[in-house]
Amino acid sequence: MIEAKNIVAGEEIMAGECVEIFSPAHPDALVGTIPLSGATELESAVDAAGTALLGWKRLGWVARGNVLLQAALLLEQHVEELAQLAATEMGKPIGEARGEAQRAVAILRYYAGEGFRAVGQVIPSSNPRTLQYTIREPLGVVGVITPWNFPLAIPMWKMAPALVCGNTVVLKPAEQSSLTAYRMVSLIASVFPAGVMNLVLGRGAEVGEALIRHPRIRGISFTGSVAVGQHIAQIAVSRGIKYQLEMGGKNPVIVAADADLEMALDYTVSGAMRSAGQKCTATSRVIVLPGIYEEFRNALVERIRSLQVGDPLDSNTYLGPVVSKAQQEKVHHYIEAGIAEGGRLLTGGNVDAGFSGYFVAPTVFDRVVATATIAQEEIFGPVVALIPAGDINEAIQIANSVRYGLSASVFTRSLSTAMEFIERVEAGMVRVNEETAGVELQAPFGGMKESSSHSREQGTAAVDFYTETKTVAIRAM
Ligand code: NAD
Repeated sequence: MIEAKNIVAGEEIMAGECVEIFSPAHPDALVGTIPLSGATELESAVDAAGTALLGWKRLGWVARGNVLLQAALLLEQHVEELAQLAATEMGKPIGEARGEAQRAVAILRYYAGEGFRAVGQVIPSSNPRTLQYTIREPLGVVGVITPWNFPLAIPMWKMAPALVCGNTVVLKPAEQSSLTAYRMVSLIASVFPAGVMNLVLGRGAEVGEALIRHPRIRGISFTGSVAVGQHIAQIAVSRGIKYQLEMGGKNPVIVAADADLEMALDYTVSGAMRSAGQKCTATSRVIVLPGIYEEFRNALVERIRSLQVGDPLDSNTYLGPVVSKAQQEKVHHYIEAGIAEGGRLLTGGNVDAGFSGYFVAPTVFDRVVATATIAQEEIFGPVVALIPAGDINEAIQIANSVRYGLSASVFTRSLSTAMEFIERVEAGMVRVNEETAGVELQAPFGGMKESSSHSREQGTAAVDFYTETKTVAIRAM
């Protein structure tokens, strides 16, 4: 039982009323409590981050990198504890949760290294006695707003680059993953000077609104829904501050007749069903070319029927519950829309899956038309739509026929099919014989169209976001 608190200026602070958090796998099991904070608590967190800013900035890149390394070493000792908490709080199977906790550690290590790498450029001047160069300055106090589906990795891949670049941070995690966020920040906050890393839990929209509108906030990094992301963009533009949005996806895979079918099946199943489909990079449309449709469909259904649904803490579980009753209802609504619009249900479709928690049975629809609701809208659940296509040209057109453009994969042995796909598919992350999910932490992450705000996270792209360039010219007398 975790009693989460806000973390402000290095202190753990209890703020008024609390709300109880229950496990989605066992809705009667109390996991912990979170404070129901609002704009007042946010104000103190931004104040603390503002006060800490100058000292953290002046520490310099190398020293900041060393602090991140200490945080990585500390977090590494608690991977199992954090994984168990994440699995209990939001229902991700324990194996995946362990992987996520390890990824949070790896992200800290990666950005610790960034503190030792070159930032800026030396640019020739027309005057040989002038040294002209660029340096990277932090934005200032930045706000980090995160969803529940990666309760450890997403907060860390936003905070670690922000911090190594010299920004101070206020994190506002989603209500459904606040216990995990609290525990992670609570473990490492003490290695940072007080006020460098702050956490405010509570009423999501109220704290989030106060954060994006606060005059001291100079940058916002957000992952979540398109509606909230677009709202944040409007506020950020009106305030003239930098923003970065990662939003939804409707990620396709194309399976060509010459594909390695075993590989295509493996990655389609894991892409669609891991984390119960609650990944922005989840595979949700499987576009199959002629010649293999029936064979691929039958094998896919057989594999998906054999997936073990169950308790996220059981290491044999492949698929846990979805995060909440509301999410279960949302997925159910899409399954009903799929049936109503003529999709043929091949397996799944039931929302109880034999358990009392918020489970959804892994679901496959056959011969879905590309314009159907379940082929257009992000479901964020374990539901996959099979869509036949006449040739690669039509398959790419279908892949592109949605408002999102996050990740896309093709399975083929043909170099020309792969090259055609890479050139024409509208997605920020394009994969050949790879799962749609699982982009490595050192590579840019982000999407096209309505999936992102045209910036990228991870790798050195995150350093670009969290800094501004100063151009310096020094003339010798
Ligand atoms: P959400 O947009 O409702 O919430 C995301 C975060 O925004 C939460 O912390 C929430 O409290 C906060 N928030 C809500 N209203 C706000 C406001 N007015 N101002 C500021 N902050 C506010 O999304 P969710 O339900 O947490 O997550 C599910 C959605 O996120 C899915 O649609 C999914 O596609 C998307 N997602 C995208 C990615 C990606 O990388 N592209 C990753 C994970 C999730």
